[in-house]
Amino acid sequence: MAARAKSKAKSARAKSTRRKPARVKVVAGGAQRASPGNGKERGLLARLEEGAVICAEGYVFELERRGYLQAGAFVPEVLFEHPEVVEQLHLDFVHAGSDVTEALTYYVHREKLRVIGREKDLAPMNRAALSIAKRVARRTGTLFAGDLCNTNIYDPHDPKALKEAERIFDEQVGWAVEAGVDYFVAETFAWVGEAELALKAIKRASKAPAVVTFAMHQEPILRDGLTPAEACRRLEQAGAEVVGLNCHRGPATMMPMIRDIRAAVKCHVAALPVPYRTTPQQPSFMSLTDPCCNNQRAFPVGLDPFLATRAEIFDFGREAFALDVRYLGVCCGAGPHHIRALAESVGRHPPASRYSVDMSRHAFFGTDRMIRRIQTEYRDKA
Ligand SMILES: [Zn+2]
Repeated sequence: MAARAKSKAKSARAKSTRRKPARVKVVAGGAQRASPGNGKERGLLARLEEGAVICAEGYVFELERRGYLQAGAFVPEVLFEHPEVVEQLHLDFVHAGSDVTEALTYYVHREKLRVIGREKDLAPMNRAALSIAKRVARRTGTLFAGDLCNTNIYDPHDPKALKEAERIFDEQVGWAVEAGVDYFVAETFAWVGEAELALKAIKRASKAPAVVTFAMHQEPILRDGLTPAEACRRLEQAGAEVVGLNCHRGPATMMPMIRDIRAAVKCHVAALPVPYRTTPQQPSFMSLTDPCCNNQRAFPVGLDPFLATRAEIFDFGREAFALDVRYLGVCCGAGPHHIRALAESVGRHPPASRYSVDMSRHAFFGTDRMIRRIQTEYRDKA
């Protein structure tokens, strides 16, 4: 481990201790993957017992930025059009420190494909996402996760919609079981009832662990009235192995809820914020307005000025891990640099850390003796 990363991890521990003693020790280099995976690696729960599990999410936003996916519907048709781009993105996130390769089946469900007129592609698109992720997971020794998400049709008072949501979960779970996922992610739910349906579908078909996460809009409660802590407790009782929050909220407005959840449940807790500077007045990324653009909503393609820095994500990871929140990630808006910062915040040194910032040799701000004074003396004017 490089001296710099070591001292970073050390200072992270020191600062965590001041806040509250961390109940877990930092597992340095725990994410190193020297040998290719064969699917027989330690599972999710064993890894969580030892320390943090880093899970990169937010694929659709990153693929949109790269020019391979349309904002709006946010359906990853790229799975058919450019599977090599999806594979490379998985590899980029693993290189940056993700312990998980999550199949890009987010929004590859029946309702979404119906909206874009591609319902007939439902099964092949799910299978394509699962097979790309599995290939990367087995090659890199990362965990292979299946993914279920918000259906956008869930309505507790509409029995037909409930049936349809159930069908959506059952069929996506089926393809994931067929592909042999190591565990399931069920994410971005604003309704407890919808998350329960997803969890039931998983438990009906598989013994693999389930990570269930809610996405909080502006209100401090879910759409069926429960606080996130109450909702997570209910999901824990229903058999979820990991519960928590993902998406919608940035680190600043997610963290208070994560504290409540940590206090409310006994199981492992997940926290995967979006990397945006949300505020108490505008606590979700959909609610952020940009004063530079007539105070219009910045979501989804005008969010750049609100993007969190690596340091902010590092601080978030350090704080969450000190609370014993071990399943950590970054959602929509995350780039590999955010994942690397998160991995380093829990003491990891992923391959991408070889290129983590080192300003000692910078032309103006460097301290190396090779740096000419004609530049360093000018640094205040640079
Ligand atoms: Zn997200």
